[in-house]
Amino acid sequence: MALPAEAGGFVGVADVSPKRPLCFLLLGPPGAGKGTQSAIIARKTGVARISTGEMLRDAIARKTPLGEQAAPLMDHGNLVPDSLLVALIDERVTHPDCTNGLLLDGFPRTVRQAEALDQLVRDRGMELVVMNFDVPREVLLRRLSGRRWCPSCQATYHLESSPSKKEGVCDTCGSALIQRADDRENVVAKRLEAYEAQTIPVIEHYVKRVAVHRVDGYRDVSDVFAEILPFLQGEKAS
Ligand code: AMP
Repeated sequence: MALPAEAGGFVGVADVSPKRPLCFLLLGPPGAGKGTQSAIIARKTGVARISTGEMLRDAIARKTPLGEQAAPLMDHGNLVPDSLLVALIDERVTHPDCTNGLLLDGFPRTVRQAEALDQLVRDRGMELVVMNFDVPREVLLRRLSGRRWCPSCQATYHLESSPSKKEGVCDTCGSALIQRADDRENVVAKRLEAYEAQTIPVIEHYVKRVAVHRVDGYRDVSDVFAEILPFLQGEKAS
């Protein structure tokens, strides 16, 4: 997994150019806006966006062995085992688009995953930047219950804050939008429980090692992005 000598620097309209390849982590509870921000960051910078939730949903759609194992766990709001997630990331980072850095959305979610990632960061000589999205619980619940999702292209909408142009139809690919099974009220409660029990310790893991930047996620999407951008450019790296 060695990097080529010339590696480093994102390219794209945002002209982000950190000194070393970044491993940029977006942590925070479900519904905090990590997916929205990571999609914008990837579009503006060209950095490889890795959303483990999306990868798992894609594996479920393709009915792969990973998908078959993950589906019942995800449907009930539980985490998928660490060994599967670490193998998934290990494989994903071998793709050429990961040479110049990684943008991780939804990983790591447990301390064991964080420890595996620490090793990867060391092996690749990457700079770790950790953003922690903070959003009040009632806002998370509102966002998740109103979220609608395209099972074909994984685009995400919200009934109030970002509706599709035509109700119930994906703007991008025209498929029918649905509510994700794990966005239903009883499952959301379970996901938030999993977050508190297993992912809050991940934040503590990083607080001991690097600066963890708190992002107030209860603001306009563009304001949140403006706060994140300097970290992507390496101007405020931890
Ligand atoms: P997300 O789209 O990130 O909210 O993830 C949806 C679901 O996928 C989670 O509720 C978990 O069941 C599973 N998942 C995603 N990422 C991870 C991870 N890093 N570790 C374990 N399970 C995960």
